[in-house]
Amino acid sequence: MNIKHQGIGMTSQRARNRLVEQLRTMGIVSEPILEAIKSTPRHLFVDEALSSRAYDNTALPIGYNQTISQPYIVARMTEALIENNSALQNVLEIGTGCGYQTLILSRFAKQVSTIERIDALLAKARERFYALKCRNVRARNGDGNLGWPEHAPFDAILVTAAPLGVPKQLMEQLSVNGRLVIPVGKSGEQSLLLITRTENGYTEKRLDSVSFVPMIEGIG
Ligand code: SAH
Repeated sequence: MNIKHQGIGMTSQRARNRLVEQLRTMGIVSEPILEAIKSTPRHLFVDEALSSRAYDNTALPIGYNQTISQPYIVARMTEALIENNSALQNVLEIGTGCGYQTLILSRFAKQVSTIERIDALLAKARERFYALKCRNVRARNGDGNLGWPEHAPFDAILVTAAPLGVPKQLMEQLSVNGRLVIPVGKSGEQSLLLITRTENGYTEKRLDSVSFVPMIEGIG
């Protein structure tokens, strides 16, 4: 191992521990999620030039006007999705981006299906899944507003870009007791919602004020 890599490794171990302590202070209580964040190499999901900031609790640019989500938000959304049921079966993610949230989800699900509208981002994310031996993720280029009907119903759906309203197709592709975590609203006034499908309808709970890139229709 060369010195440069060793240096990054040591910095990142300290930085990862510090990040996890920060998330704890901010109210993340799930030990399995904190452990997943600690053991996932976030620096491999951003440009090398940004790797020294990879364990800061901030969103970072990933190109194409998109960002890797803030670690707190990744943890918060994953926690809301899992709650007491730590073994998810069939999960759908909309907005693969660099694939970081996908990888965290893949630790808690039997199968993750993820959709990204920007093909170049998807190609890089696929390389990371391969390099990190993440074998329970299928990824495709497409418009996430439509969901992925061939693999529905999903017991959990996570959306990482904000539409103005909840897409009907995503609600329809939830199984009974399935949970959808989604940021909704225009820039500057978005809410993170938890929507749960019940036997005879849906319930909705507002979790947080958030700031996500907009969900766009069609593919890029
Ligand atoms: N989960 C990602 C966050 C990426 S930002 C991460 O951890 O890095 C949100 C992503 O949603 C962007 O990559 C954007 O291209 C994608 N996106 C926006 N609208 C979309 C749509 N309609 N369908 C699929 N992906 C979409």
